[in-house]
Amino acid sequence: MGLIEDAKEAVRLVQKIDNMELYRKILDLQSEAIELIEKLKEKDRTITKLKTALSLKGKLICEHSAYWLKNEKNETVDGPFCTRCFDVERNPCRLVQKSTPRQGCETVQCPNCKVQFPNFMIADYLSKH
Ligand SMILES: [Zn+2]
Repeated sequence: MGLIEDAKEAVRLVQKIDNMELYRKILDLQSEAIELIEKLKEKDRTITKLKTALSLKGKLICEHSAYWLKNEKNETVDGPFCTRCFDVERNPCRLVQKSTPRQGCETVQCPNCKVQFPNFMIADYLSKH
């Protein structure tokens, strides 16, 4: 039985005893257990993110104001990634094309931190991949 199921069972059993103080204590414990499980899930997500960042660290190359993952033949295999999101949050966030025809140049944007900047090289790469 899992923690939540055990807590529900404890609540059910305490209801039979008819002890309000014990019943409230068990409900508090159940709430704390749910909170702890949520915190553990959040930590798992953080660990997964950091593992991904660690596997990329040292392999990313900064070119044209973005990070790129390249193979031994210097061919791009992934990216471009936002430099700010990776440097600050260790979040490899892909840049996307954002057209701005009025300015007459191609603009790219990070969907996470929303930074956008004109960059023909990245926009050209994104339009072909
Ligand atoms: Zn970003």
